[in-house]
Amino acid sequence: PVVLGIESSCDETGAGLVREGRLLGHAVASSMDEHARFGGVVPEIAARAHVHAATPVVRRALAEAGLTMSDIGAVAVTTGPGLSGALQVGVAAAKGLAYALGVPLYGVHHLAGHVAADTLEHGPLPDPCVVLIVSGGHTSLLLVRDLARDPIVHLGDTLDDAAGECFDKVARVFGLPYPGGPAVDRAARDGDPRAVAFPRPMTGPRDDPWTFSFSGLKTAAARWAERHRAAGRPLPVADGAASLQEAVADVLTRKAVAACTEYGVGTLVVVGGVAANSRVRSLAEERCAAAGIRLRVPPLRLCTDNGAMIAAIGDLLVRAGAEPAPLNVSVDPSAPLEYAALHPVAA
Ligand code: ATP
Ligand code: MG
Ligand code: FE
Repeated sequence: PVVLGIESSCDETGAGLVREGRLLGHAVASSMDEHARFGGVVPEIAARAHVHAATPVVRRALAEAGLTMSDIGAVAVTTGPGLSGALQVGVAAAKGLAYALGVPLYGVHHLAGHVAADTLEHGPLPDPCVVLIVSGGHTSLLLVRDLARDPIVHLGDTLDDAAGECFDKVARVFGLPYPGGPAVDRAARDGDPRAVAFPRPMTGPRDDPWTFSFSGLKTAAARWAERHRAAGRPLPVADGAASLQEAVADVLTRKAVAACTEYGVGTLVVVGGVAANSRVRSLAEERCAAAGIRLRVPPLRLCTDNGAMIAAIGDLLVRAGAEPAPLNVSVDPSAPLEYAALHPVAA
């Protein structure tokens, strides 16, 4: 069947259509500009924007695919994790469509969607693979077997900030525009990655090899900026951005490649918004090539939040014969990533 995926966990409203692993069409609307003057996503603004965008993005995805509503055979929606009010808009839309069309509904984990995004470009995931999820809210190393059936093994997570959060927060301190991650990436093009010796957190001999920490790096970058300001010197933003990006990319790729080697896994998959970072991509390529590991990274447009990735995991669940969600399925804003399907039932 054609699976419609709906995503509304944060500030992107996404709709995607996937059949048998193939992306037929997708559309994304973002309320990013409305949050810019607040320096971060405002939950109430995001939820309202989803209300306005939900129907148009579904229609745009259908138009791109050359399909109509009656072609939809199943609906998948992000039920968590994310902002509660934002999630509820997408879930309400998905329930309405599934009920009206008489098709099954699947509630899926947002991060399983990020992982599944890569299958739209590179085909089925090998079993097993190591997955590095790096996004605005998460930084985790996972051991993934069959994404639609098996429990996901967490090798390690971040103790504090996510890598994307580190980019976003340091960008503010550097006076770069919102959202910070892409702005750091752009600024870094003209900078020297060796200009500032920022720390490589959690890479010491006593540190857990699969655990991350980015709050210390964030503080180090803020102190570096403060020292320039206090001395009345202009801030060399490009050098700071390049050095920060190098430190983040170094830690992420070092640990991810080490996990592949340690567990004897031949494929590394890097997903989530920070997988769009140019240095994370190039350093992952260099290090995987040196270690004889196959690297898979989704194309840029499928790294950040979108509906195609939710349709992709929905399609995998449908084909695996997973149980659909009941129509009273509720959102779970802090859902742990254990299985791709998330079906908490409203109390
Ligand atoms: P989560 O998936 O953890 O719930 P999210 O959905 O908000 O969080 P994504 O949309 O996956 O996150 O990714 C957004 C994050 O990716 C932001 O922190 C953003 O700054 C970062 N990001 C996007 N592009 C780049 C880039 N080129 N370089 C660095 N960071 C980037
Ligand atoms: Mg976003
Ligand atoms: Fe995301």
